[in-house]
Parts: sequence; C-alpha cells; structure tokens
Amino acid sequence: MNTPRHTQVAIVTGASRGIGAAVAQRLARDGFAVAVNYASGSTQADALVAELVAAGGKAIAVQADVANADEVRRMFDTVEAQLGRVDVLVNNAGVLKTVPLAEHSDALYDQTFDINVRGTFNTLREAATRLNEGGRIVNFSSTTLALNMPGYAIYNATKAAVEAFTHVFAKELRGRNVTVNAVAPGPIATSLFLDGKTEEQIQAFAKMPPLQRLGQPEDIASVVSFLAGPDAGWVNGQILRANGGVA
Ligand code: NAP
Repeated sequence: MNTPRHTQVAIVTGASRGIGAAVAQRLARDGFAVAVNYASGSTQADALVAELVAAGGKAIAVQADVANADEVRRMFDTVEAQLGRVDVLVNNAGVLKTVPLAEHSDALYDQTFDINVRGTFNTLREAATRLNEGGRIVNFSSTTLALNMPGYAIYNATKAAVEAFTHVFAKELRGRNVTVNAVAPGPIATSLFLDGKTEEQIQAFAKMPPLQRLGQPEDIASVVSFLAGPDAGWVNGQILRANGGVA
C-alpha cells in the first residue's frame, strides 16, 4: 500500500457499483478521501461509503447525473465543502448498449453520448479550475475501440471522443501540473458487460485474451491507482489499455 495521503481528495464518478466501486475502494485504501458519485444507486453508494468509513477511510456519497452540468457543478461544490479541494478525478461513469448502428434509436444515441461524452466534458470543465496543483485525471475509454466489433459503433464513437479529450486536455492544462490519462479496459465482469449476453457469448469473450479470463473490476482499479498515484507523475496524455492482451 502507498503512504496514506489523508488530505488528498478523489472524486470517482459512477462509483455505486462495477469498476467505479472497485476504484473507490482502492483509492480509499491508498489513503484518499473519496467522493462516491452515483446517478440513481443511492443504496449501493451509501453501503459502499459505510464500508469505506468502517475500514478507517473518509468517504461521502454524492448524487449527480454527470450529463447535467449544474449537477456536476454542485457535486464539486459539495465535495469541496465536505472533503476539501479535489486532487484526483476519475471519469468512470458510462453506459453501453450494443445495438447495430442501423437499429440504434435517437434516444439511445443521445443517452450514450450524454453520459459518456458530455458527462466527461462536464467534469473536465470543472476540473480545469478546481483541481489542486499536482492533480490527476483518469478518463475511461474502452478496448472495444480497437476491436471494431459489430454493435459497438455508437459506444466506440463516445470512447473515441473521450480519447480525444484526453490527448488535448493534457496539453491545455500546461502549467497546472495536472496529468490527464485514460484507461481502456477490455471485457470486465460487471453488469455493463454481462447484461444481455448468453453464457456462450461471455465464455467467448473470456477466451479472447491470452490470459484466458475476463477482467475483474480490481484489475482496472489497480491501473487507476497507479495513474492517480505518485509513480505515474511522468505519464501524461496517454491511453493505457488494460485487457489481458486482447488488443
Ligand atoms: P456498470 O457496472 O454498469 O456501472 C456503471 C456506473 O456508472 C454505476 O455506478 C452507475 O450509477 C454510473 N452511472 C451511469 N450513468 C450515470 C450518470 N448519468 N451519472 C453518474 N453516474 C452514472 O459499468 P462498468 O462496467 O463498471 O463501467 C465503468 C466504465 O468502464 C464505463 O465508462 C465503461 O464504458 C468502461 N468500460 C467497461 C468495460 C467492461 O467490460 N465492463 C470495458 C471497457 C470500458 P447508478 O448505479 O446510480 O446507475
């Protein structure tokens, strides 16, 4: 475990479950005070906060739809008031529905872009002025962007936008001593990946990486811990694929 950074504050968006919850647990273990953001999963977010506090950590749950700029502003206000100024922003919140492009509805297109792209834009815009000197931003792309599988056109387009944000924003923060990177996971056993797939499809994905298993949320949490921690100080503007060797 790293040296506790009791005074350092991390926001993890979409941390009520899945990868975000594992990231919140890991950053709390690393010594960060953690803001557990969620959209609707208040019961799960509250339970996670109770677990982190019981383990000796500092954590709060903060409701905000990342797609809503006002709610994101209020989230930063709340975190600053209750935990202090933010050092680490993890833009984990995201949604995926695999639908062929020709069958994609306008509503699903809007929802996917609103959460994955506008949500990341909203938090980055706040972070530009609110993150402490020496801060870290970790965005979420996906290895699906490299795989070009049918059904992923709209989702991949949102993650391509997140990668573009990552490269450019890292340069726009020149002089702020803040790094901006993204992690691009391969298949991870969360509801985002598992829901709607047959056991056969899941097993096919599990066989894809040479390491021959699905990723677990903790596999990604450890990568985020690295990017958010002192050892990644010279890593900036990069996309780190963590996928067991799929692509
Ligand atoms: P998940 O298990 O479905 O969890 C999604 C989380 O995002 C939940 O905590 C959910 O909160 C939150 N969320 C959804 N919409 C939100 C909004 N508008 N505002 C705030 N929070 C919102 O997903 P996951 O698998 O952990 O995915 C996390 C990230 O990893 C996503 O960006 C995803 O694209 C990326 N990723 C995942 C995989 C994979 O295989 N799982 C692979 C590559 C990349 P509520 O409970 O409140 O709804």
